[in-house]
Amino acid sequence: MSSFRQPALFVPHGAPTFALQPGAAGAALERQAGRLPPPRAIVAVSAHWATALPTVGLATQLETIHDFSGFPAELYVICYPATGCPEAAREVARALAVAGLQVSFDPERGLDHGAWVPLRFMFPDADVPVIPLSIQPRDGAAGMLRLGRALAPLRERGFLVVASGNVTHNLGDYVRAARDGQGTPAYVREFADWVWARLVEGELEGLLDYRRRAPDAARAHPTEEHLLPLYVAVGAAGDDFAAERIHAGIDDYVLAMDAYAFTTRAGATA
Ligand code: ZN
Repeated sequence: MSSFRQPALFVPHGAPTFALQPGAAGAALERQAGRLPPPRAIVAVSAHWATALPTVGLATQLETIHDFSGFPAELYVICYPATGCPEAAREVARALAVAGLQVSFDPERGLDHGAWVPLRFMFPDADVPVIPLSIQPRDGAAGMLRLGRALAPLRERGFLVVASGNVTHNLGDYVRAARDGQGTPAYVREFADWVWARLVEGELEGLLDYRRRAPDAARAHPTEEHLLPLYVAVGAAGDDFAAERIHAGIDDYVLAMDAYAFTTRAGATA
């Protein structure tokens, strides 16, 4: 078991075609994973698994879920052969319960593309057990910060939190940009840089109130689910966190592909 305190990561998963065209974002994720001591297990939090209660996956063989339609055939044959670990999953559930959260289990949940696309770049051999954990959109940003904080003690036990979403996510704008050829709207980088500025300063209050305070927040996120995993990753780094931007970029006109690593500052408790 690793005694090194793992960081908590926020990673982008882009459009499903990210799996075929990793580009600079995929390379950054691969580099980041290469810098880590081998995790005992990965807690995979994807924007594409939303439930009412925090739900922990217990499966030992994780299905590669191709939860998209209308994409190139080669995407549908990709298999990411990750294994689960019921023992580690129960440890995740215990950490949530200790924090006062009600927990549910799913004996069959596999990995949706929000989880397997980035994990395949980071751990191509699928040799680290993966524990899927759902988000709860109705609990909002503050709820997802609480969920992350409940996971913080697991980092000392070798668990790597990988929370997957996108810093901007407006598919209507994607369709328009692709059709009209007008390139990337200015809000994409402006919103992403606003988020990064809050993270650098540790301005959680502003971050939690992003919908009122950030430029074009409702346009960057017509619905919140792709930003919510960010709060899980931030929470998992504890009250006093340090943020590192491990990638900044834009794919598919409107998807900010920014990725972050969060650590607990020296001397702070997670
Ligand atoms: Zn997505």
